[in-house]
Amino acid sequence: AQEPATPQEPAVSWPPGLPRSLEYPLVPVGSILRAAVRRWGTRTAFVDHDVELTYEELGARAAAVANWLADAGVGRGDVVAVHLPNCRQYPAVYYGVMMAGAVFSPTNPLLPAADLAAQLTDAGATVLVTWDQVLPFVRGALEATPVRTVVVTGEAHTLDFAARLEGLQDGDVDLADLLAADPTDHHRDAGLDPAADLAHLAYTGGTTGVSKGVELPHRNVVTNVLQSACWTSGSLPELDEAGDVTVRQVGGEDEYPTRLGEATLINLTPWFHAMGAIGYLNGMVMGGTTTVIHMRFDPVRYVEDAQRYRVTSIGGAPPVFVALLQVPGFTEHDWSHVRGVSSGAAPLPVSLIERLQAVLPNAVIGEGYGLTEVTMQATGNPSFRSGTRKPGTVGVPVFDTEISIRPLGGGDALPAGERGEVCIRGPQVMRGYAHRPEATAESIDPDGWFHTGDVGILDEDGYLSIVDRTKDMLLYKGYNVFPRELEEILFGIPGVAGAAVVGRPDETAGELPVAYVVRKADDAGAALTAESVMAAVNDRVTHYKRLRDVVFIDAIPVSAAGKVLKRELAARERESVAGA
Ligand code: AMP
Repeated sequence: AQEPATPQEPAVSWPPGLPRSLEYPLVPVGSILRAAVRRWGTRTAFVDHDVELTYEELGARAAAVANWLADAGVGRGDVVAVHLPNCRQYPAVYYGVMMAGAVFSPTNPLLPAADLAAQLTDAGATVLVTWDQVLPFVRGALEATPVRTVVVTGEAHTLDFAARLEGLQDGDVDLADLLAADPTDHHRDAGLDPAADLAHLAYTGGTTGVSKGVELPHRNVVTNVLQSACWTSGSLPELDEAGDVTVRQVGGEDEYPTRLGEATLINLTPWFHAMGAIGYLNGMVMGGTTTVIHMRFDPVRYVEDAQRYRVTSIGGAPPVFVALLQVPGFTEHDWSHVRGVSSGAAPLPVSLIERLQAVLPNAVIGEGYGLTEVTMQATGNPSFRSGTRKPGTVGVPVFDTEISIRPLGGGDALPAGERGEVCIRGPQVMRGYAHRPEATAESIDPDGWFHTGDVGILDEDGYLSIVDRTKDMLLYKGYNVFPRELEEILFGIPGVAGAAVVGRPDETAGELPVAYVVRKADDAGAALTAESVMAAVNDRVTHYKRLRDVVFIDAIPVSAAGKVLKRELAARERESVAGA
């Protein structure tokens, strides 16, 4: 087979001063934290409801967690599931687990108990870290799993004193006990081999098929944190005097919105998700950022805190930006302190980029693309000011990453401009799916290309557009309809706050394109009718792509990671057709 071609020299100015390829130190994930503690010391790492935690304090707590686990016999190769929402305890648990040599396996804290049990069993987790309020719901489910130790914290539970926890049983462990253990770093990663030992065992999305465990050795995590952090901050990887990994900024002050040790942001992205753990948690720790933790997304509180802390960046998935722009008075604030916006996990409509840019004049708006299976990131739009950003694309491959577009049914790489399956090759591609050799072989070919199931197009300059997911495509009378195209138009209609297009089963046509639309809380929103929305879209598309119905809805259902839950909307359509 012919070797698929990646455009080698995309016509984008590469991050100024940076080589095409980076050197990735072979160190475990705990090394990121150790270097940050040494470098950022007394700077505030995390803020949660006015409780501040410095880098030094975070380092001490992570070491305490590692020591406690090691003393309890939890170490190399053991899987620790973390079933927590974002909270101030999370970062210490995250690093502590890996510093003890164990594998971090995050779970979505909103998973129904039966799904949680299935995931814990698949992962072989022997320890579960969770919080008191969900204990009654998960307790029964744990019996059929390998979990032996339950470590419990509470929402009202600060890092410094033990609040009364509810529902604890004999044998449960209070997280405060772990955090109170000896804070000296005794274990130094328990003799891990970063190339072979797993750091993360992460379960994918949940919006597609059966949940599978993605195996990510320490090397993958450290590599992708660097690929992402160096891209956004114009930095090079470096070892500090103790041999731990950090980054050195080489890009100029005016070029990069992110300045190491000076950034502040509000973190909404869940840390149980790739974008949260790699891009935010690790990325921010490496860069010495102060992260304000918001466990839940409350747009009004977000705006208040963004003003109070004068955040330098705003990050998240597109629905977050849509909601923020709708907060009354948003545009009246001074947003000159916001130097960067980064979006990921789902398509960022061009009209939304334009609205954001209008209110955030100093911000470089970047968008990244990736998947759990490639640790987190594969491509990005340049986040430096002189770079050529192409709105509507997800940018070019980050360092040492190749993209090729293949025919959906299989075959050799397609030329620029043609639509096909996005395939990714690079050092961040997962080792494989846990205990699923067939699924692994189906997704990673013998040449090392990971087949994403996303449909994309590379342009002449090497910029990738994600046009859809293969499973998200509609078939109208045999024609392919890609919802993304219709959603772009919908987002541009005045009065539309959110939109998602799904297929309605139809005897003659197969599926009919139907739009779910959220009205803006303004006059333009109130004036929308199904007819006016359909007219605005249908005037602009060929016959087979025309919307056949519009359903108004209060909110588009999204997963905790910000992905539109199309399957929920599609299920609604099937039910309404069946009931008709
Ligand atoms: P996950 O493994 O949960 O991160 O989901 C990965 C999937 O999210 C990809 O296969 C894409 O379908 C989608 N995705 C991620 N980032 C983007 C983006 N910037 N634009 C469009 N889709 C995206």
